[in-house]
Amino acid sequence: MLCYLLYGPGDLRAEEHDIPTPGPGEALVKIIGCAICHTDLAIIDGHWPFLTKLPKIIGHEYAGTVVALGPGTTSVAPGDRVAVYPSAPCGLCLPCRRGTFWLCLRPRALSGGFAEYAALPEQCLFRVLPQVTDEQALSVEPFSVAVHSVDLAQMQPGDTVVVIGGGAIGLVIVGMLRAAGAGKIIVSEPDPSRRPVAVEFGADVVLDPRERDLAAKVKALTGGMGADVVFEAVGLPQTVEQCFALVRRGGTIIIVGVALPEAEARFKPFDVFAGHLTIRGSWGAWWTIPRTIDLLPKVRPERVLTHRFPLAELPRALELRRKQVGIKAYVIP
Ligand SMILES: [Zn+2]
Ligand SMILES: [Zn+2]
Repeated sequence: MLCYLLYGPGDLRAEEHDIPTPGPGEALVKIIGCAICHTDLAIIDGHWPFLTKLPKIIGHEYAGTVVALGPGTTSVAPGDRVAVYPSAPCGLCLPCRRGTFWLCLRPRALSGGFAEYAALPEQCLFRVLPQVTDEQALSVEPFSVAVHSVDLAQMQPGDTVVVIGGGAIGLVIVGMLRAAGAGKIIVSEPDPSRRPVAVEFGADVVLDPRERDLAAKVKALTGGMGADVVFEAVGLPQTVEQCFALVRRGGTIIIVGVALPEAEARFKPFDVFAGHLTIRGSWGAWWTIPRTIDLLPKVRPERVLTHRFPLAELPRALELRRKQVGIKAYVIP
């Protein structure tokens, strides 16, 4: 089978490997597609401290069809179409035993989606119904990031929200906020081609942060208060810093954009103290997947998929992502 292995920073190689044999508790999945995430570029460039064992087949937003079972696998059957969650909590470390699986100290990173097949533990496979399209199934992982971030915001129906960044995650957060009963949804996005898409996903107002004083505009739209919740979905120091000017007193900032590990942002501790602010970080979330799948027809996160390539053209698709052409590309074996 064709697969792409990362050997080190900038060293991604296309190779022919044998189709893997599923071990105990695993299933062999024939991959139907894998989307390209901005994080894949960070991983390829060596900016991902969690990836310790190389070489590794990368690609983490994928889905497939079960074609064979390993010994003792019972929760899926050959023919099932499954969304894949790309890492598994160990269930044994202290955070796992305390029920905080997202803080697992030894999560198992799975064989990735830039390949024709993967042998995967059944706990990371989630069956989807026939009416779920392939594009929806491979959007489950990034959509689950949006679902989890909205969970963490602990919003009330009608809350006013600012989403900084109209990329794939920002857009899907907007769709999720609309489904979750948010009030006014304001998006900040400099790329004019993305602004109408933000409206399609449910934004009420889309602002260009380069043209206007974003904070003054948000204040004007919120009766002088600021937003109840601000989602940072870019991952740059300046957009993280911007959150503090947009949130109301007592409001919540959710940082879901992936910054470089060495990036630093500045804020005034007094503003957090006097403003009773809540700041939360949000990452992927395995346990939100069943709800994420149920929400697919309502939010339609696959609308961010703008470009499709054969797996053999992955390097071209990655280049497109680097140049930020379109919103999101995916590859199909
Ligand atoms: Zn991703
Ligand atoms: Zn654990």
